[in-house]
Amino acid sequence: MPQRIHTYRGTIKVYIDTETCTACELCYDAMPDIFSNRGDGIPIVLYKNIKEDDIPRLESIAQDCPSGSIILEVG
Ligand code: SF4
Repeated sequence: MPQRIHTYRGTIKVYIDTETCTACELCYDAMPDIFSNRGDGIPIVLYKNIKEDDIPRLESIAQDCPSGSIILEVG
């Protein structure tokens, strides 16, 4: 059963699949305002910083994640 971190901000839900994440650092290097290394390479989501305008950037980084570990629900 994958562990998931769930974050909710407005109409955006961000899930990080901590079982498939390879701690590649891409997401928090690319978007340090929203993703941060929790200490072991797995990202945490800084949900207080997420704005509606960030949806395109979040969709882009979710596509770029090499293991598909960033799952978005928008709406
Ligand atoms: Fe994990 Fe994906 Fe972020 Fe890399 S880009 S640290 S695999 S969630």
